[in-house]
Amino acid sequence: MASLKTLFLHPPSFEGFDGGAGSRYQARREIRSFWYPTWLAQPAALVPGSRLVDAPPDDLTLDDVVPLASAYELAVLHTSTPSFPSDVKVAEAMKARNPDLRIGFVGAHVAVHPVESLAASPAIDFVARNEFDFTIQEVAEGRPLRDVLGLSFREDGRIRHAPDRPILEDMDALPYVIDVYRRDLTIEHYFIGYLLHPYVSLYTGRGCRSKCTFCLWPQTVGGQRYRTRSVDNVVAEIAHATRLFPQVREYFFDDDTFTDDLPRAEAIARGLGRLGVTWSCNAKPDVPRASLEVLRDNGLRLLLVGYESGSQAILNNVRKGTRLDRAREFTRHARALGIKIHGTFILGLPGETRETIEATIRFAQEIDPHTLQVSLAAPYPGTALHREALERGWLESEGLVDGRGTQASVIGYPHLPRTEIFRSLETFYRRFYFRPRKLVALGGEMLRDRMVMKRRLGEGLDFVRFLARRRQEAASSSPTVANP
Ligand code: SF4
Repeated sequence: MASLKTLFLHPPSFEGFDGGAGSRYQARREIRSFWYPTWLAQPAALVPGSRLVDAPPDDLTLDDVVPLASAYELAVLHTSTPSFPSDVKVAEAMKARNPDLRIGFVGAHVAVHPVESLAASPAIDFVARNEFDFTIQEVAEGRPLRDVLGLSFREDGRIRHAPDRPILEDMDALPYVIDVYRRDLTIEHYFIGYLLHPYVSLYTGRGCRSKCTFCLWPQTVGGQRYRTRSVDNVVAEIAHATRLFPQVREYFFDDDTFTDDLPRAEAIARGLGRLGVTWSCNAKPDVPRASLEVLRDNGLRLLLVGYESGSQAILNNVRKGTRLDRAREFTRHARALGIKIHGTFILGLPGETRETIEATIRFAQEIDPHTLQVSLAAPYPGTALHREALERGWLESEGLVDGRGTQASVIGYPHLPRTEIFRSLETFYRRFYFRPRKLVALGGEMLRDRMVMKRRLGEGLDFVRFLARRRQEAASSSPTVANP
């Protein structure tokens, strides 16, 4: 069937912004980094002749993307809560350039707020709710919008909703994203500080069995069940990728929790071991040593681990489902096996106090992951944390990011104002990284690998700039929280 000429666009927003729709956090990171637009590549692979444009890593501005409007019949923009106001401006400018362009928004933000999103601007013709791969394929085939399951749209001046689309069960029905990466992206533009460069990331499944109250995707577009592609399908895509991208040094599986299904993870690992690739993935801090050994023996280099907090009470409050004693044991095993860990932490979750912040910093120093990142609690609409924050009066501001796309502190408590949570982020980073042991370890890595040295020097500069900005903002006593 012939398709509309379709543009998939991850729009430009803040300079260097990697906290948009394809990211699990809300803000640009402390160092320059970019995730792949995998969610958008998936439907792009289903629409023949389409093009995927990822503006942030290519440093494309509004002026660069607006002329594209004239060359397409359909534009699909991936949006997020922090970038939505800016994404609307992009849509309006494109519609002004080509009034016949049909424009749709996809992503968790519009899935949670379809009516408000459509009401935000007449430039938006439709939004896709929840999973949108086959929804967009049908729109691109030119079906009447009212016949496309999962769509909310404008008709005769009113907002209407087609019935929900059933959740996708046959994950192997999704085509490979790797061909779209090859066709439309420059993989050298994608950086993540703790991954080897160049890297490629993709999903082998969607959803997470855990029910963490702050976590957006499982509560919206992914679901709280791990739906997976078959082992053979995943291994075949990586084999294909090794032929398309011989320069790639590492593959990253960005599934919410790749280790949720350990027998499958081990089977995929064995397939990757036969290919001889280096890879890494997301994990909870509860993987048993025997499984870690299998993964390590088959190319696993690094795990991205959500520890979140050093307070068991906070982990319980947010339903993380992990225990500090098991997290300690898991980390010891990973270190003994030579698996690197990038640990992620969140400050400001329910139950946070000055004492729990101190406990979390000490916990991070004690388990000593190779690298870490610290986020401020981000109550995305659609999450239990957002509902809880509204009900309990904790939400002191709406903007998840400041005017530069940097994370803002929006949750505050009577005993712990958001400004103090905001300031503790810098303290956390300083007390973790500026320890002699950590500086020596990172310095040693730089001396052993010239590419690592080049990158780390650039990242170090980014990090110093980040700390300087924090200083300025702390001096003015409260973070900026304006939307763009
Ligand atoms: S385990 Fe990780 S991916 Fe799963 S719900 Fe919790 S934070 Fe989200």
